[in-house]
Amino acid sequence: MLIARLIADTATLETRLDAASAELAAAGLPLAEARMLDACSDVLELELPGDEAAALRRVIDSHFAPSDAIVSREPFRVPDLFVSDMDSTMIGQECIDELADFAGLKPQIAAITERAMLGELDFASALTERVGLLAELDEAAIATCLADRIRPMAGARALVATLKHFGCRTVLVTGGFHHFADPVAADLGFERVVGNRLAVAGGKLTGGLVGPLADSATKLEVMLGELAKLGGEAVSLATGDGANDIPMLANATYGVAYYAKPKARSAANGWVDRGDLTALLKLLGIPQRDWRG
Ligand SMILES: [Mg+2]
Repeated sequence: MLIARLIADTATLETRLDAASAELAAAGLPLAEARMLDACSDVLELELPGDEAAALRRVIDSHFAPSDAIVSREPFRVPDLFVSDMDSTMIGQECIDELADFAGLKPQIAAITERAMLGELDFASALTERVGLLAELDEAAIATCLADRIRPMAGARALVATLKHFGCRTVLVTGGFHHFADPVAADLGFERVVGNRLAVAGGKLTGGLVGPLADSATKLEVMLGELAKLGGEAVSLATGDGANDIPMLANATYGVAYYAKPKARSAANGWVDRGDLTALLKLLGIPQRDWRG
C-alpha cells in the first residue's frame, strides 16, 4: 500500500484530482481512497494498493505541482526523531557565503558552494578550499554576520517546537560550522548539533578545521545512531536541500527535500516546493491548534 499526503492549490484541487485519478486508473493503478484530512483540512490523502511509488510521484508532480507532499508505505505517524540540515533548510542563508562577504571573498566562495551543492564538486575538497579562503578573518566577524544576516526559515521554530512537544528528538546536522549552528540550534530549540568546527588562533580563523569533517556520511551516521538509541520501531523525519543531504533523506522514514536541488529532491520520498516548514506539520496530520513555537 502507498499513502501520499499532499498540499496543493486548493482552488483547483478537485479538477486536478479528477485528472490525476483518471491517469492512475489508466495506468492500472486505481486510487483506493482520496480524502481531505480531518485534522488538517488542506491536506489531501491518497491511498493506492501496490508499491508503485515512482508512478504515483510522477502523477503528483505532473498534476499538482507546485506541491508539498510525502509518499509513505506505512500509515503516517508523528516521528520519534527529526534530523535536519541547517543552511537553506532551517535558516534562509548559506552561512559560509554570508561570512565570505566579511572577507571580501563572496564570489569565489559562492561559486564553490554552488558547484558542491549541485554534486559537481566533492564535498570535502569544496569545504577545505572554502575554509582555507577564510584564513585571517576575525572570529568576531562570525557573531556580527550571524546577528545581521542569518534568519530562521519560515516555520522552523514551530516545526521544531511542535515536534519536541510530541516527544520527538531533534538534531541539527550541518556540513557548515558550529560557530553558526550552535546559536541557531539554541534559538530554534534543537537538542543536539553536529557540524564542522573552524579552527581559531589569536582571535582569527586559521583557515583550517578542528576534528573530523562532517559530511553526507556523517549526517547519515548521526541519524542512524540516534535511531538505534530510540529502538527498532522508531520513525524518522529528515529535511535538507543539498547533495550532502541525500543519504540522510534517502534513508529516513520521511525524507523531505526542502526547496531542494533536483538530485536531493529525487532521492527523497517527500518534498516542500510550495509552503513553509509548517507544511511538514500539516502533512504529519498535526492540527494547527497543537502547534507550538
Ligand atoms: Mg543546505
